[in-house]
Amino acid sequence: MAVDEKELQAIVKEVMAKLQTGAKPSAKQSGIFEDMNDAIAKAKEAQRIMQKMPMDFREKIIANIRKKTKENAELLARMGVEETGMGNVGDKILKHHLLAEKTPGTEDITTTAWSGDRGLTLIEMGPFGVIGAITPCTNPSETILCNSIGMLAGGNTVVFCPHPAAIKVSQFAIQLVNQASMEAGGPDNVAVSVTKPTMDASKIMMAHKDIPLIAATGGPGVVTTVLSSGKRGIGAGAGNPPVVVDETADIKKAAVDIINGCTFDNNLPCIAEKEVVAVSQIADELIYHMIENGCYMASKEEQDKLVATVLTPKGLNRKCVGRDAKTLLSMIGVTAPENTRCIIFEGPKEHPLIAEELMMPILGIVRAKDVDDAIEQAVWLEHGNRHSAHMHSKNVENLTKFGKAIDTAIFVKNAPSYAAIGFGGEGFCTFTIASRTGEGLTSASTFTKRRRCVMSDSLCVR
Ligand code: NAD
Repeated sequence: MAVDEKELQAIVKEVMAKLQTGAKPSAKQSGIFEDMNDAIAKAKEAQRIMQKMPMDFREKIIANIRKKTKENAELLARMGVEETGMGNVGDKILKHHLLAEKTPGTEDITTTAWSGDRGLTLIEMGPFGVIGAITPCTNPSETILCNSIGMLAGGNTVVFCPHPAAIKVSQFAIQLVNQASMEAGGPDNVAVSVTKPTMDASKIMMAHKDIPLIAATGGPGVVTTVLSSGKRGIGAGAGNPPVVVDETADIKKAAVDIINGCTFDNNLPCIAEKEVVAVSQIADELIYHMIENGCYMASKEEQDKLVATVLTPKGLNRKCVGRDAKTLLSMIGVTAPENTRCIIFEGPKEHPLIAEELMMPILGIVRAKDVDDAIEQAVWLEHGNRHSAHMHSKNVENLTKFGKAIDTAIFVKNAPSYAAIGFGGEGFCTFTIASRTGEGLTSASTFTKRRRCVMSDSLCVR
């Protein structure tokens, strides 16, 4: 039965009201505890049960998480936008469907075997136990549901420390995971968190003896903190993905792809195009097609106003992150045409709206004299994050040269950036891209440890 707009608004309101921050956890708020130590203890109990379950059983739980994610995709999207004020509902719905369909489950856990005269040796990928996961406000429920599928597939349970700006939607996602487990006959508390996820709660989690692995998805601060914790850390940090366009590219298609990628969920994804470096020869043509596709060319005066509005001495103005182009323009007194999707301008690579990771649909265009110059400027702009970069070109040598020079976890060619996470591209989906620590796009196998099992002098039947 289709739910109409009014009914849906009412459901969002009701769920948000029930999830009031600081409210005492009720029977409905499964997995949410007052105290971090209690949360971890419960997740540990659940993990002991999980470990005894056949892999098939984990897969049943995961299938139910996928189903619930799809059923609640619109609700989660609306809750996320309402609570954080960031992104847009349509794209967030797509992100939830994408993760439900394309996040790998237990099939990602494989075994390596050697057999011979001296017997049989296996490398089995076993669970770590209870994993600590710190999640961002930019993809809050997406990261929690995606991490849950991968971590549970690996036989772990998980304690989440969500961003304080996205507590309600994060807690709702955690509850969905537990409901999915219990409905499938699994334990409660396979995913847990606390009513108030403060920095103190996060410190307790990081120092806790029962947390052997921490996956941090967020900016540079959290990744550095986790990597200094003395625990094994998976660091999915910040990016500032440049997109290079050379003279051999299909320029019209490049413009459409870049604007589609850049404006997806109002530029919140860490993989999204954050600036363009275009070879001079085709820069005007590229800009022409961008304007044809809903881009607003900001004047020098408007650029200055944007700098003063979106950047503060302490960094990004959070009120601007994840806002759409028309809203950003209205903040500087510009009434933009209805079809405006993205703000563009030309500038040097050092321009603050180009060099900074903004996470809003403001796309600076830097001119380069040739492809080598473009590659050099793009590498500078990526700031050594080794996260994501993209290129539009038909010249395989140029693509190879940039791929080697930029050395990022993700390198998309001739497509919007979201092709990297399986949206219009091959491969699986994830919202945790371990750029700093090198695991790259994480999946269930990332959340397992390798264990060698040796049977001496037997079980080789060759
Ligand atoms: P953020 O760094 O402000 O917060 C991320 C999480 O870390 C939150 O839960 C926050 O409470 C926590 N946190 C922040 N500083 C901490 C500290 N010192 N100790 C412990 N916890 C800390 O990031 P955000 O605004 O939520 O998300 C946007 C940032 O995350 C961008 O830089 C984006 O590129 C990055 N990101 C990266 C990936 C990836 O897969 N690599 C995915 C999404 C977002």
